Amino acid sequence: MQNSPLSKIILEEREFFVKRDDLIDPCLAGNKYRKLYTLLNTPNNTYNTLISYGGTQSNAMLAIAAMCQKKKWQFIYYTKKLSATQKNECEGNYAHALALGMEHREIENDYYKEYIASLRLNLDEKTLLVDQGGALEAAKKGLEVLAQEIRKQNTTLHVKALATPSGTGTTALFLALALPEYKVYTTPCIGDSAYLKEQMNALAKIPSNLIILEPKKKYHFAKPYPEFYEIYQSLHVKGIEFDLLYAPAMWQALLEQTNEKVMYIHSGGVSGNKSMLARYKKKGLI
Ligand SMILES: *Cc1c(COP(=O)(O)O)cnc(C)c1O
Repeated sequence: MQNSPLSKIILEEREFFVKRDDLIDPCLAGNKYRKLYTLLNTPNNTYNTLISYGGTQSNAMLAIAAMCQKKKWQFIYYTKKLSATQKNECEGNYAHALALGMEHREIENDYYKEYIASLRLNLDEKTLLVDQGGALEAAKKGLEVLAQEIRKQNTTLHVKALATPSGTGTTALFLALALPEYKVYTTPCIGDSAYLKEQMNALAKIPSNLIILEPKKKYHFAKPYPEFYEIYQSLHVKGIEFDLLYAPAMWQALLEQTNEKVMYIHSGGVSGNKSMLARYKKKGLI
C-alpha cells in the first residue's frame, strides 16, 4: 500500500490537515487497517481460524471479515442475541460482513460474558482470538508504520499536534508512543476519561504527550445527537465524510478546547454511516 494522502480543510476559520486513512480500502480502512497491519502481513498458513466478538455494527468486525476473506481464514464472530430487525438488515456492517464470509454465532445474553471468557481457554495453535474492537498488542507495529508516514509527510507542514478519537484507546495510545515529539489529542467516545485511561493502562503506560480531552457533555455511544450530525454535515460539505460514532465528538473537542494547527487522523468507519443516517432520519433529526 502507498502512503495514504493528506487533505487540507478550513473549519471555523481554522486550518486542519486530514490524514486520509479512510481511503485505504472500502472495508479494511482507517485505524482498523492500522491495527490489523501485522496480521495482514502474517503468512496465510499461520492461522486457519480467527475468532472475535462484540456488536454487530462494529467497524472492527467488518475490517476483520474483509481481512479473513483476503487471508482465506474462517472468521467466527460471537454476539449477544440479535433482534429480528437487526438480522434482516440488508445493508450496514453486519450484512456486509456476512457477505464477506463471516460466520455469526449468537450467545444467550445470560451466558454471554462467561462464554466469551471461555473462548480463550479453548484455542488451538491455528486459531487466533482478537478481542473486541481489535484491541491487540500487535496493533503497535501498524501504528508505527502510520507514525513513519506522518513524519515523512509533515516535514514541510510543521504540524505539532495530531488528533484521533478513542474507543478502546489502542490507536491513540500507540500513536502517541510512536510519536513522542507530537502532541496527540484524543477524546473518549465510549465511557468517560477515567474508563479510557483504565483501558489504555492495560496496554501500556500512558505517555505525557497523549492528551485526553473530556467532552463538555455526557454522550452515549452510538446515540444520534443533533450537534453530531451538524459537525458531520459541516465536514461533509468540505469534501470529507467522517463516521458518525467517533469523529463528531473528536472534532467538537478540537474546536472547543484547542487552537493550534492539528492533523486529524481519519479513523475510517464511514461504511457504518448508512444505517446510522437512517436512525437520524427515523428520529426526525435530519
Ligand atoms: C474503532 C474505531 C475507533 C476507536 O479506535 P480505538 O483504537 O478502539 O480507540 C475510532 N474511530 C473509528 C471510526 C473506529 O471505527
